[in-house]
Formats: sequence, structure tokens, C-alpha cells
Amino acid sequence: MQWETVIGLEIHTQLATKSKIFSGASTAYGAEPNTQACAVDLGLPGVLPVLNREAVRMAVRFGKAIGAEVAARSVFARKNYFYPDLPKGYQISQFELPIVGRGEVEIDLGEGAGKRIGVTRAHLEEDAGKSLHEDIHGMTGIDLNRAGTPLLEIVSEPDMRSAKEAVAYARKIHQIVTFIGICDGNMQEGSFRVDANVSVRPRGQAEFGTRAELKNINSFKFIEKAINFEVERQIDLIESGGTVVQETRLYDANKDETRPMRSKEEANDYRYFPDPDLLPVEIDQAFIDEVVAAMPELPDAKRARFAMEYGLSDYDAQVLTANRALADYFEVVAKTGGDAKLAANWVMGELSAALNKAGLDIGASPVDAEQLGGLVARIADDTVSGKIAKDVFAAMWAGEGTADAIIEARGLKQITDTGALEAIVDAIIADNPAQVENYRNAEPDKQPKMIGFFVGQVMKKTQGKANPKQVNELLRSKLAG
Ligand code: ADP
Ligand code: MG
Repeated sequence: MQWETVIGLEIHTQLATKSKIFSGASTAYGAEPNTQACAVDLGLPGVLPVLNREAVRMAVRFGKAIGAEVAARSVFARKNYFYPDLPKGYQISQFELPIVGRGEVEIDLGEGAGKRIGVTRAHLEEDAGKSLHEDIHGMTGIDLNRAGTPLLEIVSEPDMRSAKEAVAYARKIHQIVTFIGICDGNMQEGSFRVDANVSVRPRGQAEFGTRAELKNINSFKFIEKAINFEVERQIDLIESGGTVVQETRLYDANKDETRPMRSKEEANDYRYFPDPDLLPVEIDQAFIDEVVAAMPELPDAKRARFAMEYGLSDYDAQVLTANRALADYFEVVAKTGGDAKLAANWVMGELSAALNKAGLDIGASPVDAEQLGGLVARIADDTVSGKIAKDVFAAMWAGEGTADAIIEARGLKQITDTGALEAIVDAIIADNPAQVENYRNAEPDKQPKMIGFFVGQVMKKTQGKANPKQVNELLRSKLAG
């Protein structure tokens, strides 16, 4: 039997507001447990939630970024369930009337292939606290700092047909929310959490199969692994006569498997009802216009502009717009360096390699964009060769100063004075009569390769500082005799 995989993702993005969605408590990550939950977050008697305008603005920004309808009126509802990290006994969420309606994103499947994936809706809600199972032996600790942190839950259509497509979609949403500055995107810290709904069906069948929802996936790599494991599990189960039950399953990265967590709740288990403490959210056109006017450049637009404005290949433009910090960095290097292609090569080559090796994000690069631009400018104007520039870069990385200062201090300036180069070339020719003889007797098509020996000698004598182009020209005319 040929099977087809069907996947829909629910992505919880923590919004990057300073304070919580219904209170003034801080949302900063990593504080001492239970120091950042106030009476509102705990739902103590008599408190009233007040909606954070910034969270609404961020939700609208996302809606407009994916071409979705922003609801003129949306409603907060209580989703009732019991869990130790949910002190109120209910979570404030949106149910029937979410703030963002249907939209769409284009995913990138490599080699120019793409696909449009539907976004069903995105709604605002509050995060719960955290249960800490490992910190205290034999007990579960509760940290309520996260309670009340604003979330935008982004629900996709079941449009994906492979783990690869699901990863591409998750990456796209990640790219959008970080570009528009509504989420820091940190998956380890739980700022961007992906739940994958997975089912299989015989190829050609119209109805979907029964799905399982996979939780606890905290990297893009694990999205792919968790889905692939689950697809295999469901196929094996059905082929051996069993049936898939609708349930929530936990992904265990150590064992690379999914296992049952709880049977799937139906919406009516939650007894949703409109929260009586919160007014409906009414959004007028002026507010939307304001958000649209302040919208930063979106990733797809930036990629197209990079290709056009800087003459980059589509691949380079894609790599350089993978995240906003990288894109911003590149633009500064290109502007300071004056040569965009050279800037692209240095950012994607030497810089990225050094960052990878050191395990650093671009934001923590010891060489800032102006500094790298300064080096690119010196390569572009022939002050140093590309080869010497690598030594200059290493020195910059070690904190020795700007490119100009390092070139000056170490005497790395390229020798471009024709008179000086000519004297060196003459000396090399005089010192190597046998090679000169060979060269002159060789077939003309063999000569370009043979010239390498002489270039090497000149470079050795000048510690790599001779301008290679000039050296080649001089050698060619002098060896011709
Ligand atoms: P619930 O209300 O139980 O959360 P939804 O209808 O909201 O269910 O769907 C949740 C997610 O599951 C959505 O992303 C949706 O695309 C996806 N989904 C729904 N049915 C299937 C299915 N049969 N296979 C895979 N994904 C599915
Ligand atoms: Mg759901």
C-alpha cells in the first residue's frame, strides 16, 4: 500500500512584549522561580485583567504579514482545565472569534521549488506556568513566572505532505515572526513551540486519517525526526491490523520516539465561554493602518531586493536573508565595503565559518559589520589580496583592531608599485634560468600553467604581498623575451 502523510502545525509563539498579556508583571526569561507572577497572573480573587495593547499590535502585525484578515472584533474566552501550573483553573484564550483569520505563506523546498501553505487562524492567549520535574528529587516544582506571558498561537491548515514540508513551514513562520520583531524565536527557551498533528492515509483517499498530536519538540531537526517516527509508527500499526487513536503524544529526543501522553480532548471538554472580565477587542482601520505603515521589510521582499539591488544570486540572497540579524549585518558590510558581491562572499564564507567554529550567533561576532566592511574595502581597492585579507580577518577576530590598523602595523600592504615589482620579477627570472628556458620552449597552451612557478617565487620573496594580477602581467611579458 502507498501511504500519504498529512501534517498540520500549531505553533505557539511567545510575543516579545516587556510585560504580560493581562498584567504589568515582567516577561523576562530566566528569573528566580515565582518572582514574576503577580496577583492577576495567579487569578487571585478580585483582580481584573487589562489587555496589553502591544500584544494586540504584534498579533495584527503578524496578520498583515501573512496577508490575513484581521478581525474587527475578537473575543477572549476561558478554556477550563485543571493542571498544577495553571493557577486560575482556566486559560484565557480566543476560541470562536480569533484576532487573525485565514492567511497564507509560501514555503521554500529548495532548488526553486515552493508551495503555499494555508494558515487557518492565529489567536492571542496567555501562557501557563512551568512544571519542573528534575529540579527537586521526588517532587514536581511549579514555576509561575511564565503564567500570563502573551502567546500567539498560529494554526495551519493540514496542507503539508512530508516532514520536510513541515520543517520548511515552521522555518518560514519562524523567519516571519523574528523579522517582524514579535518573537525572539528561541526554541530552547520555549519562545517558539511547534506541535505537529500527523496522520496517514492510503494514497488517493480523499478523507484524512486519524491524527496524533506531537508535543515537546524543541528544534527544527526534532520536528523532522518526530514526524518521521510517527508516520512509520502509524503505518506499521495500520498494516498490522490496528487503528490509530486520536491522542497527544510526547516526543522523546533521547530515544527518538513518540509515546502516548493523554487522549485527545475535544473542544467541548474545555467548556469554553467568553471571559466576563474582558471586553471584546475592537480594532479600527486606523490602528491597522498604523501597524502596516510601521511594518518592517518582510523576508521574501528583502530576498528579492538583495538579488536586485546587490546583484546577488538567488541562493546568496536567500542565505543572507535567513535571519534579520544576518541580513542587517550584510547590508552594513556591503555599504561600508563598497563591493556587495565581495561583502556577500566574506559574510557567507570566512565570517560564517568563524562564527560556526566558535558557536556564536552573528549578534555576538567579535568582528562587527563596520569592521568587516573596512576589510572588504581594502580588498576592493587592492590594498590587500584576498589571501592576505584572511590573515587580517584572523587578527580582527582576535581583537587587534581595524583592518587599516592591522595592515599598517603588520606591513601587509600589497606591493602595487610597478617599478618595485619589476625589479623582483627580473631577479626571479635571472635566478631561474633553467625554468625560463623550459617555459620558452613549451607549447603556448602549456605556458599559463607553467607561469605559476614564477608567481610562487615572487610571492615567496614578497611574503604574499605582491599584487597577483600585476605580477602575472609582468611575468608574461618578460618571459616572452
Ligand atoms: P483541535 O480543535 O482539536 O485543536 P483543529 O481542527 O484545530 O483541532 O486542528 C488542529 C491542527 O491539526 C491544525 O493545524 C490542523 O491543520 C491539523 N489537522 C487536523 N486534522 C488533521 C489530520 N487528519 N491530519 C493531520 N493534521 C490535521
Ligand atoms: Mg487546537
